Amino acid sequence: MNQSQRVAAATETLVARRVALSRSRSDNDAGTVALGEERRPEALAENDQISDVLMRLSARETAELGEVDAALERLSQGTWGQCENCHGSIDARRMAVLPEARRCADCMSFTPQSSARGPHD
Ligand SMILES: [Zn+2]
Repeated sequence: MNQSQRVAAATETLVARRVALSRSRSDNDAGTVALGEERRPEALAENDQISDVLMRLSARETAELGEVDAALERLSQGTWGQCENCHGSIDARRMAVLPEARRCADCMSFTPQSSARGPHD
């Protein structure tokens, strides 16, 4: 696979994941999507539809959606596959399995991402 095929494959994976996340949101609130009574001021402050979606997603889904969006943005800016810490290229096999990866394996090992999982769990 060349770089543009990898980019195309990653885009497809990320878009599919985004769709799956949005679908899990609509399963949670089928029927309450319309311009309901639930119009909170926080939701109106920004694009109210997006805020509403984010409020309904679980913290984990919200985090995942954020990662997916960030990866799609890197794809569109041409920085996808570049480590944001050392600016080196992230291994293509790693990017194939984890298209939202921000860092290469070396950088990940000294700076664990904001994962809450620790030895004291
Ligand atoms: Zn790195």
